[in-house]
Amino acid sequence: MNNKPKIGVYVCHCGINIAKTVDVDAVAEFASHLPNVKVSREYSYMCSDPGQLLIKEDIKNEGLNRVVVASCSPRMHELTFRKTLAEAELNPYYLEMANIREQCSWVHEDREKATEKAKKLVAAAVYKARLLEPLQENEVGVEPATLIIGGGIAGIQAALDIANAGFKVYLVEKTPSVGGRMSQLDKTFPTLDCSACILTPKMVDVGSHPNIELLTYSEVEDISGYIGNFDIKVRKKARYVDMDKCTGCGICAEECRLTGRISSEYEVGMGNRAAIYLPFPQAVPAKYTIDPERCLFLTRGKCGKSPKCVDACAPGAIDFEQKDEIVEFKVGAIIVATGFDVFDASRKPEFGYNDYENVITSLELERLVAASGPTEGNIIIGKGRKGEKKKKKDRETFTPKEIAFISCVGSRDETVGNEYCSRVCCMYTAKLAHLLLEKIPDANVRVYYMDVRAFGKGFEEFYDRVRREGVRYIRGNPSEVFKRGDKLVIKAENTLTSTPIEDEVDLVVLAVGLEPRQDAREVIDLLRLSQSGDRFFMEAHPKLAPVDTATDGVFLAGCSQGPKDIPDTVAQAKGAASSALGPLSSGKVMIQAQIAHVDEATCRGCGFCVETCPYTAIELVTVNRVGHMVSVAKVNEALCKGCGACTAACLSGSIQQRSFMDEQILPQIAVLGGM
Ligand SMILES: Cc1cc2nc3c(=O)[nH]c(=O)nc-3n(C[C@H](O)[C@H](O)[C@H](O)COP(=O)(O)OP(=O)(O)OC[C@H]3O[C@@H](n4cnc5c(N)ncnc54)[C@H](O)[C@@H]3O)c2cc1C
Repeated sequence: MNNKPKIGVYVCHCGINIAKTVDVDAVAEFASHLPNVKVSREYSYMCSDPGQLLIKEDIKNEGLNRVVVASCSPRMHELTFRKTLAEAELNPYYLEMANIREQCSWVHEDREKATEKAKKLVAAAVYKARLLEPLQENEVGVEPATLIIGGGIAGIQAALDIANAGFKVYLVEKTPSVGGRMSQLDKTFPTLDCSACILTPKMVDVGSHPNIELLTYSEVEDISGYIGNFDIKVRKKARYVDMDKCTGCGICAEECRLTGRISSEYEVGMGNRAAIYLPFPQAVPAKYTIDPERCLFLTRGKCGKSPKCVDACAPGAIDFEQKDEIVEFKVGAIIVATGFDVFDASRKPEFGYNDYENVITSLELERLVAASGPTEGNIIIGKGRKGEKKKKKDRETFTPKEIAFISCVGSRDETVGNEYCSRVCCMYTAKLAHLLLEKIPDANVRVYYMDVRAFGKGFEEFYDRVRREGVRYIRGNPSEVFKRGDKLVIKAENTLTSTPIEDEVDLVVLAVGLEPRQDAREVIDLLRLSQSGDRFFMEAHPKLAPVDTATDGVFLAGCSQGPKDIPDTVAQAKGAASSALGPLSSGKVMIQAQIAHVDEATCRGCGFCVETCPYTAIELVTVNRVGHMVSVAKVNEALCKGCGACTAACLSGSIQQRSFMDEQILPQIAVLGGM
């Protein structure tokens, strides 16, 4: 310290938040007698413009070189007051805050004792302020590109927004086509827009945008680095089809020996595909892929005399020699848009999903009502599809007349570990009930529900509309679905009238909820993301930072963060895109100054700090210590978030955090203990 501390203390009333319980005048008067305190003042709102002006003028007129603000939590206004110091041309890290609101006035009632505690907190801050040192924030450049993981509507929207702003996007999608769940939907509530009609143009745009590099059938293998400078490794899986040669004509799939014999993921078991396939007609890219787990040539080494797809493909696009490819690139920001899984209905065995062909899920019904679906939009239930194991030739089909929906399957249900509401099921149930009545006008459709949550724009009106159309809503939680003769019986209790119900129906539709993806762990491990109680990815702050994560430069969009409908998904994707555009367009980011640093001379290289660091900011490196090569810890300053975990773990005290060094904190503790 080259200059003698001259400290200004500023005690805030915070209206009556502090002043009601703490004698602010007495605290300011007490502070004026503390060592090195040149000025001590109280003011109604220190964070207001006049409050900040007081500080700035004192810095100039009184020559202050340290400032203590006794007010609210530093989380609230530390940045405000740092800016005040900077504006008065004082290093912003010469600021110390004493939290006399959250840690004093708000948690105490006895004015006298609270005032004494406030004095102690202010004294401790003054003792620490005497030992503060100036710190410098560093600037790093930003790679003007973004990685987006997941090509559902969230990833597509974010990619288009960033690409349209003039920046490069790498959009990585696990499956052979972008589109996500929205591509499987027929119409969308509450406006009944045709899902494909609004999604397909966006899919085509991402496929052809000059700023977007689309990596489908690909997975991110490794991510290292930090905001502005992430190094990415992506595995492009072999499609066994040359993308440049494939014209998407589909003759290969028609000729494949397994045509119509493999259950289609897109049709969720309601339709079949070949071993070489296009996931759905509007797929982007419109290029075929060979399923390596089903293709006879790839699994058994032969497919008749020669693979029929090879013979059929005029441009010669089939390439069984193709290998996975690793693509490497750098980005400045990352958006995670990996979406959701639908709840597996077999986890509620009481509803007979695995046993009866006429118990289906809402997603299966989406495919049945879709004109592009396996039944061309006809509601035909195939007997013997499951459970009853009839031979193909004996299978019959029928059109159901008595239809019941069971809502909240896998949502708001502690027994399956999902306490949360999936937010879309009430409305998609209303939508599907409406579509069923359109297709089968003489059907009797009822919905067994717990509560109807019609909270969005136009939702309540849509719910009213389907009830007017004849859909009956029965408040009751079904306990069981079983077979009686040709019918299914729903056993329930009407919770409004307390009457037991046994309802005979032809078709039960389970309104399955949205769950975190089974494979979410892969992304968690890549990016060290946190999960909230519902196991979806956790945002940095549920209200104030809903698209940020704990890692700078990594953002969340869509259902990966929690269940939401398409409008909310698109809104969040736009939020994530604009957050990513911040650093991209400024071209630089500031690296915070209050970070950990290592004293190489005393570090023993035990590695505890490496294990403790939640941001992978520390590594062990070998250095030459007076002729001996030894291991010591090294902090990556761009990754360190200054959480302090390593300083607590370090046995030799060699890792210290700037502004929270032992020699700064110990006198502060001594003051608190000694008064
Ligand atoms: C039955 C049903 C009906 C619905 N009906 C409606 C409706 O009418 N109106 C409405 O507004 N909403 C509706 N929804 C909700 C709607 O489906 C979602 O809001 C929307 O799909 C969310 O999009 P997303 O991009 O967040 O996720 P998704 O659609 O799940 O897309 C995520 C994408 O990320 C990919 N991915 C996952 N992990 C990785 C990885 N590690 N690497 C690369 N790629 C990965 C996936 O393959 C997928 O393509 C319905 C939902 C269901 C289940």
